[in-house]
Parts: sequence; structure tokens; C-alpha cells
Amino acid sequence: MSAAQKQSHPVEMGPIEPHQRLQKLVADSQRVSIDPTMPINRYYRSGNQIVETADRSLREGNLEKAFTFYLRFVTIFVELILEHPGYRSVPPADKQLTKEKIKKIMPRAEEIRSKLLEKYTTEYRLYLKQLQLQTEQEEREGEARKVAATAAAAAAAAAAAAAAAAAKSADQQPTTSYAPSAPPSHVAVITDTDAKLIDQVLYPSDFLTDRSQATGLPSTGLLLAGEDGRRFDRALKPTAPTGATAGVGFRSIVVPTDTMQKFLELAAANTAANLETCAILAGSLGQARFTITHVIFPKQSGTSDSCNTMNEEEIAVVQDRHNLITLGWIHTHPSQTAFLSSVDLHTHCSYQLMLEEAIAIVCSPKYRETGFFNLTPHGMDSISQCRQTGFHPHPAGQPLFTEAQHIVLSDSVAARVIDLR
Ligand SMILES: [Zn+2]
Ligand SMILES: [Zn+2]
Repeated sequence: MSAAQKQSHPVEMGPIEPHQRLQKLVADSQRVSIDPTMPINRYYRSGNQIVETADRSLREGNLEKAFTFYLRFVTIFVELILEHPGYRSVPPADKQLTKEKIKKIMPRAEEIRSKLLEKYTTEYRLYLKQLQLQTEQEEREGEARKVAATAAAAAAAAAAAAAAAAAKSADQQPTTSYAPSAPPSHVAVITDTDAKLIDQVLYPSDFLTDRSQATGLPSTGLLLAGEDGRRFDRALKPTAPTGATAGVGFRSIVVPTDTMQKFLELAAANTAANLETCAILAGSLGQARFTITHVIFPKQSGTSDSCNTMNEEEIAVVQDRHNLITLGWIHTHPSQTAFLSSVDLHTHCSYQLMLEEAIAIVCSPKYRETGFFNLTPHGMDSISQCRQTGFHPHPAGQPLFTEAQHIVLSDSVAARVIDLR
């Protein structure tokens, strides 16, 4: 631990007050938006994926993520969806189903909220206790240093006095065995004692640093004593916001290798005319991973750099018939490279809001490129806050999208194409 780290005060890095921390989690969870230009069907079709992710997180003991996703569902289907221009067109049966889901979710979310508050309170109390311990240790350290300094000064004074006495005695008895040029032996003895005395002073923070090294835990500015006064508590490390690392905890999506080829064959006519083509990637969940089994082409109208779908309810019918989950989408860039345009980012944001693992495949026949993308947590946050439509620049800085790390290309499954155009 460097001197600078020793000096930094733990309060600045400590956890926030439990109610405030919970409030922040609620605010973060509710900071979602839905895109009024997206077919409302897409939200109703995939709403269950949000609940499913929340249920799974709860089973895995990830309370914060479970809470975030339950709250996301409630925020979307109790508030945001009412503002969607397509709300009136939603079949009453779908609305009823969602209402029932919300009734089940609310008490569950409430229960998690109290558990989280309990957890945050325990962590905060522990933190305060450790802070107090450290302050006391720092005080003791200060005292010990004072004692050591006083002892050293006294020893030095005694040494000087003894040296003077010895010199005087040497002057008076020139025939003594003491060699006048050699340093008086007792001076050295006092210096040794002095060093030993300083060595015996216990520096609590050094002690803790040694402990942390012994346990192999990383040395941070937050090396504080645990409840037993020795243990370094990882819970004190500032917690990263949920989903800070892209793809961590994501289930894999198996992509049949022939998906792109089959899609491009059906898109060929549009591609030749420099028009985009898009399709929905649908499939199933089994053994903790998704598999794309169907590529569904909805009715659509494309331009050289965009593609709009129509009659999405037809996709819903197909998905219901085959019991398919929406796993993402695929589209061509007939004259550009494979990337996500600003419009694509907004489109994908809706997919990923409903299913965090949702992917966007972009095929660029001209540049012979295929991109498998998803939005970064930062991308999800900024795109869902962006109110602009059409092509528009997004602030440069952290990347908004990244290559999907959770896809598995496989030859052992084949994609089926359904063309509704
Ligand atoms: Zn695009
Ligand atoms: Zn935007």
C-alpha cells in the first residue's frame, strides 16, 4: 500500500446510505424507454423474456438484477406502453395477460426490495464499524509513533551524554584499554536498542496490508479490518452497476452456420437493387442456451440504408405456431460495411431491452463481411435516452455496440426460412 493510499479517507469510497442506494437502483431500473416507431407487438411478444431473466436472476441469488428486471417489466407495461401510438391496437387478451403478470410480479419485487434494503443496511453498518476501527487504529498508530519518537530522542540524549562521559574519561586516563579513535562501544549498543524499540511498534495498517498479501487479496485503498478485525471484506469494494461488463452472465446463442447464406439467398434480389433486407431471428431456449432455428422475413420496404417491417402480427402468428422466442434480427448492408448505423442502434435497443442476449447480424455482401453485434451497457443506457429518430450522430466516447461474445456458430443445426413477404 503506498503512502498516498494510506492517506486517502475511506469515506469517499465507502458505500452509500442504504435508502439512497436502493433509490438509485430503482431510478436506474426505471430509466428505460420504448421506441414509439417500433411495432408495439415486439414489446408484447418479448415481455416474457424480461420476466424470465428476472426469475432466473432470483434463482441464482442475484437480487439486484432480479429487481432491475422486474421493475423494467413493470415500468414498460404499466407506464411506457400507454404512450405508444399502437396501444389501442393491442388485443384485450394480451393486455389482460400482462396485467396478470404484473399482479404476480409486484409482491415479488416488493419482497426483493426489503431483502435488498436489509442487505444494504448490513453492509453499511459493517462499513461504519470498520471505518471506526480504522480511525481508532490510526489514533493508536499516532500514539505509538509519538512514544517511539520520545524513546528515540531520550536514547539519543543518553547516548550523547554517555559518549561525552566516555570521551572525558578517555582524556583523563590515556592508558586505558579504550582506543581513542574507535567509537565507544556502548553508543552502538544504545543504537541497537533504539532500533529494536522502533521495530516493536505495531503499525495496524501495515499489519492489515500483510494480511491482505498473505490471503492473496488485491491491495486496495479499502483495506479495512473485517468483523473479526482481520479479514478483508470484498463487500466493501464499490459495486459496479448491474451489467457493467458486456456479456457477463449471458446465455449463449447458437447460430446455425447456414443462417447467413440462406438469408442472403432470399435477400439477393434486393441486394442487387441496392435495397436493404431484414428478417427476425427466432428460436428456442434449451439447456441454458438459445438456438436460432428460424429466420422469418416479415413484409417490408427497404431503401439503400434502411428497412422497415410491416404487419408484425404475422410474425407473432408464426412464432406462436412454432413456439419461438425472438432472439434478434438480421439485415443486409448492400453497399456498406457490416456495422450498426444510428438507426440500427435504436432498432437493436428495443430487442435487447426485452432480451439482454438479443443479437444483430449484419451481412455486407459487397465487402464480404458478417457482423454479430450487441449493445454495450453504456450503449443501452445512452440509446434508450436518445430521443432522436432517423440517421443522427451519437456522442463519441465509449463504444455503443460491440461484437457479441456469446454466439456459437454451429454446423449441427440448420436454420429454417419462413418468408412472409
Ligand atoms: Zn444497418
Ligand atoms: Zn439516437
